[in-house]
Amino acid sequence: MNQHKQLFRKGDQGPAVAEICDRLIRIGAIKNSSDVFDDVIDAAIRQFQQSRGLTVDGIVGPETFRRLEEARWSLGDRLLSYTPGHLIHGDDVSVLQRKLSDFGFDAGRVDGIFGILTENAVRELQKSTGFTSDGICGPEVFRAIERLNRVVVGGSPEQIREELHHLPRQTGVSDKVVVIDAGHGGSDDGLSGNDLTESFLAFDIATKVEGRLAALGTTVLLTRNQKTKNLIDEQQRAIFANDSNADLVVSIHAESLPNSNGNGCAAYYFGNEALGQRSRMGQQFANLVQSEIVNETGLNDCRIHAKTWDLLRITRMPAVRIEVGYLSHKTDALKLKDNATRDKIAAAISQAVTSFFDPKN
Ligand SMILES: [Zn+2]
Repeated sequence: MNQHKQLFRKGDQGPAVAEICDRLIRIGAIKNSSDVFDDVIDAAIRQFQQSRGLTVDGIVGPETFRRLEEARWSLGDRLLSYTPGHLIHGDDVSVLQRKLSDFGFDAGRVDGIFGILTENAVRELQKSTGFTSDGICGPEVFRAIERLNRVVVGGSPEQIREELHHLPRQTGVSDKVVVIDAGHGGSDDGLSGNDLTESFLAFDIATKVEGRLAALGTTVLLTRNQKTKNLIDEQQRAIFANDSNADLVVSIHAESLPNSNGNGCAAYYFGNEALGQRSRMGQQFANLVQSEIVNETGLNDCRIHAKTWDLLRITRMPAVRIEVGYLSHKTDALKLKDNATRDKIAAAISQAVTSFFDPKN
């Protein structure tokens, strides 16, 4: 989370809390407005975060607030169009993409962001229904969707398309561009515990992966260097990966919880079942990397999970975030302090990347 932006949590009060409340009322999560962040608001925020695939911490930072904004839009509430540099985000866009995809138009991944692929799909829909093909989603398009709804089929064609798109890329790792994102950095150390910080750990593993993959001929791009001073948020990291035309993004973080026995590693890919969103290739890479790390290191298997964090959502290629262990857990921390374990994790990640692009798989 960017430290320069404000966070709101239980106990806070003021106009910002009233605004949060207002968003919750709009989506029907609570009934009464208030400018005090009380238990009711806390519970509503946590439930919202849960349902949206966000971290459930009851804290309203920029990401949660943006998602509250997005959640208020239903399809038909506003005109939707592609505006480069200022893409429209919202639940209405997710619904539109889902429908376009169901109707057989390629709108890309269902991610709630009106990008160029969504515009192309709207144009195709307009063409096939005899309207001016301007890519703008207004009343005519909404009516066309209403009519087409009656012949809708199920399934997730966009997930199959993602898989078809990946197939020709399975030509080995030597011609691939892989972004390795070491979490945090600069003045942001991330989480800490047992004399370890996330920023150190993530960067160390990232450079080890870089070495291994570079030796195989892969172009490896790091989102930051060791001396990065400016804070780079998750959106900027995602945009960097998109601008680099990367084939895969691997983000490295660690967990830490006060007074907890939590331990083990987990991998996260883009998805949210409630909104019918999932990156199938992200899920596939998450599976690969998770089992490699567990096998190599013996860390507890906390499995793979779908999340909608900015880095996973905004990236246009498979992206996976790995939480390599709990800094707060004695045994995990002991392992992670050992250079040999960090080498094993890097080897596991490198192996998973190799398998992911292996023509034989
Ligand atoms: Zn982190």
